[in-house]
Amino acid sequence: MSQEPRDTVIIGAGCAGLTAAIYAGRANLKPLVLQGHEPGGQLSLTTLVENFPGFPEGIQGPELIENMKKQAARFGAEFQTGHLVHADLRQRPFVLDLGKDKLRTRTLIIASGASARWLGLPHEQALIGHGVSSCATCDGFFFTGKEVAVVGGGDSAMEEALFLTRFATRVSIIHRREQFRASKIMLERARQNDRIRFLTNTVVEDVYDVGKQEVTGLKLRNVKTGVTSDFPASALFLGIGHIPNAAMFDGQLDKDSDGYIKTENYVFTRVPGVFACGDVQDRRYRQAITASGSGCMAAMEVEKFLEEHGR
Ligand code: NAP
Repeated sequence: MSQEPRDTVIIGAGCAGLTAAIYAGRANLKPLVLQGHEPGGQLSLTTLVENFPGFPEGIQGPELIENMKKQAARFGAEFQTGHLVHADLRQRPFVLDLGKDKLRTRTLIIASGASARWLGLPHEQALIGHGVSSCATCDGFFFTGKEVAVVGGGDSAMEEALFLTRFATRVSIIHRREQFRASKIMLERARQNDRIRFLTNTVVEDVYDVGKQEVTGLKLRNVKTGVTSDFPASALFLGIGHIPNAAMFDGQLDKDSDGYIKTENYVFTRVPGVFACGDVQDRRYRQAITASGSGCMAAMEVEKFLEEHGR
């Protein structure tokens, strides 16, 4: 157990956590940023980011993250690799159990993000960033004039497919059942778009072609007939949901039915001194810029909290 409690610890080194670290660093709080198993968050899984203001030519996701990290370090943020096993938030200072190590902190910023759900296909991970993507907003543009596929039957899949019709000549929604989980309005919008077609009762079994380092097609299976077939596509977009990384706060913070941490006034959790920002509490916008914005808010609230409650 560390002797002196920290002023603040930030869980997560994606754009929410790193923005919080820049602000907390500049407030002289010497934040400690805990980087988990996906350091850099979802931005580090994407390629060119064209919608983060300030980069007229776009910037590579990993480079943007690296820049934020350097910026935070310049203001005194420290980084530690570790996985939060459990947090005891019953009293201050809070105790963070990292398995081998324990940390105490007066305030906590949870920026642990949400991980895209993947299908678990044999060659899926190897083609992330080369045609396999969980973010149409980030990567859709690269498939202008191409034929692409979206997996899923919920609102995310419909939204991704509709967005992709701005670029792709054809978008095939592949869904494992006949019925859709998507809201009627989103489903109807997709049905009325003549660039979108539906393949129901169909699952993706694999994605080609790792050898070429790009997506060239999919292996599909019809779950009713069992027949497998090859399907040409230049990209595979996953629209099967996200999983917020908040299991370690079970029973201590309020969550919604899908496990997102509930916040009030953007970043306040129900425990005073514990703030949540970015995708772990945002199921709606999920953008780098909105995550950064809420990271800034969390750090500013930490500063206020410490002023009011003493350091
Ligand atoms: P969701 O509603 O949970 O839908 C996930 C979809 O992915 C389901 O159709 C599910 O199939 C499918 N799926 C899950 N795991 C799969 C697997 N391993 N293989 C194949 N298919 C799989 O998730 P979501 O679409 O991300 O939506 C989450 C929440 O955000 C919802 O409340 C939604 O309304 C909301 N949202 C709203 C908007 C909007 O209003 N603009 C946009 C996006 C999201 P089954 O149906 O067979 O289970």
